[in-house]
Amino acid sequence: MPLPGGQSGEIYILERLRKRFHSGADELIVGIGDDAALVKTGTEETLLTMDTLSEGIHFDLSYMTAYQVGFRLAVSNISDIHAMGGIPVWALLSVSISGGRIDGFLDEFLSGLDDALRRYSITLAGGDMTGSRGGITVTLALTGNRGENLARRSGARPGDRIFITGPPGEASLGHELIKRVGLPVRLETGETLDISIPFEKVEPLVRRFLLPELPPVPPGVNSMIDTSDGLMIDLWRLCRESRAGARIYEEALPLTEGMLMVSDAFGIDLMEHVFGGGEDFHLLFTGPEGMEGAFEIGEITEGESIFLVKKDESEEMIKPTGYVHFVSQ
Ligand SMILES: [Mg+2]
Repeated sequence: MPLPGGQSGEIYILERLRKRFHSGADELIVGIGDDAALVKTGTEETLLTMDTLSEGIHFDLSYMTAYQVGFRLAVSNISDIHAMGGIPVWALLSVSISGGRIDGFLDEFLSGLDDALRRYSITLAGGDMTGSRGGITVTLALTGNRGENLARRSGARPGDRIFITGPPGEASLGHELIKRVGLPVRLETGETLDISIPFEKVEPLVRRFLLPELPPVPPGVNSMIDTSDGLMIDLWRLCRESRAGARIYEEALPLTEGMLMVSDAFGIDLMEHVFGGGEDFHLLFTGPEGMEGAFEIGEITEGESIFLVKKDESEEMIKPTGYVHFVSQ
């Protein structure tokens, strides 16, 4: 499959990490390359994950509140534990910030983080705080208990159906909308937006970006990943780890009225966001036909290519698109 620079860069870095830190230890059950690692600790099995948000790359305080940064930091981590079928338990926090910005950021940030951690019964156990000469960087690490079903990216088999827990692209359309408005909207205090579209139609998009709620973890899946970077790139990652391909039906993709309205009103390419928009934190999983609580959008196939079956039934091979972490120049 032809790959743009971003994915090649990711594979390159993953392969380097895997090579350097290759461990044959029995205690390492799932290592580098899944949503979280799984290790043996005594007689227990523990999930480990970590996520960072950097100012100017992952968040912008000109249109997000510090509360929302804290909430999203927790949610992005919890989503990775959920994507393994696990239950999050303990958290460690690291904050890098310049002295002059502590007063305007820290309390509100901690309040958002605390609210999200409480919602999922997670306890903050410690962390680290350092100065910064640049922007603010926040990192959260989480441990989790292994659930009844360990869900790996590598478990998809040809014939499996592909499911997603909600409309892909909502968060990135919400992001686009907020960016254009250019001001923070304090959803956490009930604030709304005064725009040409009824707010109740766009509220789910804005909320999915600013204060996302996580879907319940589906039982009995064969493979799973969370859609943090975009439907197609995350599907491609799942297929790569499973050494399989996929067919996605355009007609089956769940789109909401709010998504259509925002793309219409602001002249935004809807399908670009549906296929490539990240940060939804939905769960993308595979399993037998008819699984409940999610939308069935396609099937796993032999081979390693991903095809989109369009509404006119023509098929198009698609390149994975999504959030590019590493741009090779
Ligand atoms: Mg993930």
